[in-house]
Amino acid sequence: MTLKQKIHNTWRKGRIFKYQTYKKMGIARHRKKVDLTLLLLLILCIAVFPFFIVPKAPVETCPEVPVPEVVSTEEVHPDLGDEPVIPAPQTSLDEIEKRVQLGELHIETKGLEKGSSLLALLSQSGVPTKDRLAIVESLELMINVKSLKPGLMFILFKNQADEIQGVSVQISEGETLAVLREEDGSWTPFTATGRVETQTIRKLGTVERTFSGSAKKAGVPDSVISQIIAALDGEVDFVSDIHPEDTFDVIFETKVTAGGLEIGSKQLLFIGLKTHQKEIYRYAFTNKAGLTSFYDAQGRSGEKAFMKRPLKGKSRLSSPYGRRRHPILMYEIFHHGVDLAAPKNTPIMAAADGVITQLGRKGGYGKYIRIRHTEGYETAYGHMNGYRQDLKVGSKVKRGEVIGYVGSTGRSTGPHLHFEVLKNNKTVNPFGKNVISAKQLSGFELEQFQFAAESLHPDFAEHRAGKIPPVPELRPF
Ligand SMILES: [Zn+2]
Repeated sequence: MTLKQKIHNTWRKGRIFKYQTYKKMGIARHRKKVDLTLLLLLILCIAVFPFFIVPKAPVETCPEVPVPEVVSTEEVHPDLGDEPVIPAPQTSLDEIEKRVQLGELHIETKGLEKGSSLLALLSQSGVPTKDRLAIVESLELMINVKSLKPGLMFILFKNQADEIQGVSVQISEGETLAVLREEDGSWTPFTATGRVETQTIRKLGTVERTFSGSAKKAGVPDSVISQIIAALDGEVDFVSDIHPEDTFDVIFETKVTAGGLEIGSKQLLFIGLKTHQKEIYRYAFTNKAGLTSFYDAQGRSGEKAFMKRPLKGKSRLSSPYGRRRHPILMYEIFHHGVDLAAPKNTPIMAAADGVITQLGRKGGYGKYIRIRHTEGYETAYGHMNGYRQDLKVGSKVKRGEVIGYVGSTGRSTGPHLHFEVLKNNKTVNPFGKNVISAKQLSGFELEQFQFAAESLHPDFAEHRAGKIPPVPELRPF
C-alpha cells in the first residue's frame, strides 16, 4: 500500500467514524449543519471567555471545527470527553453473519453486471426504493459508487420477511465495505479488512459402495461431486468402472468470510482417481480465453467440449441421432438429438459452461431449456419435468451444474431427456467427432498451468513423470 492510499484510508475511516458519531449523538447527519453548530459554539466560547476564569484550557470544552484533512479515529475521540457518550454500533458484520448461521437471516449473492448499476442490482433483488437510496448514499461515504467494477460480488442479507438488513461487498483482497440496518431502521456504513478468504480443501477417501456416496461421506460437497462427474465424462463411467477399494483424492476451493459464512460456488481444482484398471489425475486450469477445463499433468485435456450424457445417474440411449421412425407420429423423420431414457426427476446437468437463452414450454419439446456456449455452440434439453427454481433466461451455468429434472412433457412416450447439440443453429450428433474438444496447452499457458499445478498438489511431479506414489499421504492444507 502506498503512502497516498494509507492517508486516504485513514481519512476515510475518520469520515465514517464521524458519520456514525454524529448520528448517535442525534445531531443532523449532514456535516454542514454540524459544522455550523460547532462554529456557533466556538464563537460563543470566544465571546464569553473574557468574563470567566476558566480553570482548564477552554479548548477542551470547545471542540474545533472538524477539518476534512487526515484525521484518525484517535484524534477525534478526545473531543467526546471522558464519558463514553457514544454507544458502540448495534450491528456489525460479524453479528449479521452470525444471524445467518442461526437461520434468522439468509443471503443472496449477486454480481454487478457490465453496464449495470448498484441501484439496478438492488432493484432486481426487490429492495424498496427508500432502502435502495439509503444504501447507496451510505456506501457513497466510503467509495465512489459509480466507480464500482463489473463482476464485484454483493452479498445481500435478508430476514425471513425478505426485508433487506444489510449489504456487503469486497472491493479488494484486503477490504470489505458494508452497509447495515440498525434497529431504528437507519443505515450505517462499515469497513472491514480481509473479509473473504479463499480456502483450499483436500479430501481423500476409499470407495465403499458408490463413488458419490463415499465422496460425500469423506466431506466432498454435492456441487463438487457434480463437477467431478462432468470433468471425467466420457473417460470414467461412475456406475460400471468404479469398485469398492478404489481411491479418490479431491481438492476444491471455497470462499469463506471472517464470520465463517460460505459464499459463492465451490470450484473443483483437482481430481485423482485410482481404480482397478487405471489412474487418472486431472487439474483445473482456466485458459486465456477464460474457459476452465481439466488437464492431465502433461497439460493435455481429455475432456470433450460437451458432456455426452448430461444426466446425474443411470441412463440408456433409447434413440440415437439421425433418421428414424417416429414412435408417435409413425413416419420417418430426422431425429435432431439423442434420447436418454432415465427415471423421472433424474437431475439434468448443463453439458458445458454457458448462458441460458431459452427456458419455458416449446411445442413438442415440452418444458425446454437452451444454453449458449462458446464458438457458436448451443445445447438444448427437452421433455423436462421441471427447472431448477432459481434459473431464468440470462442465468450463467457451469458444466455439470443441475438445470432441471427428467420428465415426459410435450410429445413424449415416457420419461427421457431429449438432448441436442447445435453448431451455428444446426443440430450435430452429440456423440459425433465434429464436436470440438480442448487441446494440449503450450508455451506460456503450459508454464502457467505447471506452476499452478505444482503449488496445488504435492505429488504433481510424480503425476507428470507418470510415476504414481504408492498411497496418497494425508497432507493438510
Ligand atoms: Zn428426442
